[in-house]
Amino acid sequence: MKESLFLSQLAKDATEWETGNLRRERKVLVLPAGPRIQLLGNPHTSLSFLSNDYLGLASHPDLKDAISGAAHSWGAGAASSPMVSGHMKCHADAEQALAAFTGFEEALLFITGYMANLAVITSLLTSPEDVVFSDHLNHASLIDACRLSRARIERYPHLDMLALSESLKTLPARRRLIVTDAVFSMDGDRAPLASLLELAEEFDALILIDDAHGFGVLGAQGRGSVSEEQVYSDRVILMATLGKAAGLSGAFVASSAFLVEYLLQHARTYVFSTAPSPALVGAIPTSLKLIQEADQQRSQLRMLASRLSDAVSASRYPFRFYGTPIVPVIVGDEGETMCCARLLAEQGIWVAGIRPPTVPVGLSRLRISLSAAHTFQDVDLLVQSARSVGFFKERRGA
Ligand SMILES: *Cc1c(COP(=O)(O)O)cnc(C)c1O
Repeated sequence: MKESLFLSQLAKDATEWETGNLRRERKVLVLPAGPRIQLLGNPHTSLSFLSNDYLGLASHPDLKDAISGAAHSWGAGAASSPMVSGHMKCHADAEQALAAFTGFEEALLFITGYMANLAVITSLLTSPEDVVFSDHLNHASLIDACRLSRARIERYPHLDMLALSESLKTLPARRRLIVTDAVFSMDGDRAPLASLLELAEEFDALILIDDAHGFGVLGAQGRGSVSEEQVYSDRVILMATLGKAAGLSGAFVASSAFLVEYLLQHARTYVFSTAPSPALVGAIPTSLKLIQEADQQRSQLRMLASRLSDAVSASRYPFRFYGTPIVPVIVGDEGETMCCARLLAEQGIWVAGIRPPTVPVGLSRLRISLSAAHTFQDVDLLVQSARSVGFFKERRGA
């Protein structure tokens, strides 16, 4: 048999990936989403700080019932693109509810946040004369969307409004779009939305705000970052996912009626893709109701973060807190990060080890993701295990 050069190149890549500590492994879980996970073939459960189920809704009985009910009324599949025959009353109702909840005129449903970000950026920017201004730490889906558009990509240093203002001023452009995570997914810190909107107004730009991690968590009744900071304008496009705090899957874009209609006409990931399952979509109003009523869960999240923050002040690696449920612990080296994650896992505590290309080289980290379903005791267990595997400088008698 003739040897394939193609395959041997891939084999070489795979070896380098492995020796660079970049190989990722999936775990097969045998429990529904929640603070306890159990791996297939392992008799013990572990405590997990891995999921984005910030309000603990992913396994909520009312949400499961809503999905069963919607499947009963509307069926399992939408069977075609929304532009053909996949747009049912449950989709229209959910879009209206999402727009009203987030304070925009209209909303448009997508299968995932990744697809929604592709839709917005590639529909609005179509020429090399357009410029997209993108925060250096934006989510991969925004980065990919920028690449897929034909626009010039100008990545500005993380949160640096001065640098952004300078490039908005100096770069000639037919159209300008600023794109940012509202809450940065691997850091947990937040974009200065009011300043960004001011810049958008000064330099005639539109702004895409990705609130994947703020929706449900921040703002009154969990209405998200835009509502909390009241950054409403005809220039603002909100994207939020339903797979995190909302406990489902899918995503939506909300904006003015004009821009939503524009996307509907031009977004290829909308037009050429089957509409989201009506069983899931029919449960969106229930998810919104649960989010709205979750003040106690949001307060629990804040209390868990402050308990963790109080306990880890003398840690060898810096824990960072920004008032969001995402707590990064910066370790630096890829190998050391994965070693820390493994040692914690051996203690029955799972946190995510995050490496390049998800974060810049040298900034590998553990990502602790808090959920309202965690208890104080869970946080105490995390701290105890971190102490026992050497996370703290002063290890008296350890
Ligand atoms: C998770 C995430 C997305 C993608 O959303 P999905 O619905 O999971 O595809 C987009 N942006 C950010 C910031 C995210 O964290």
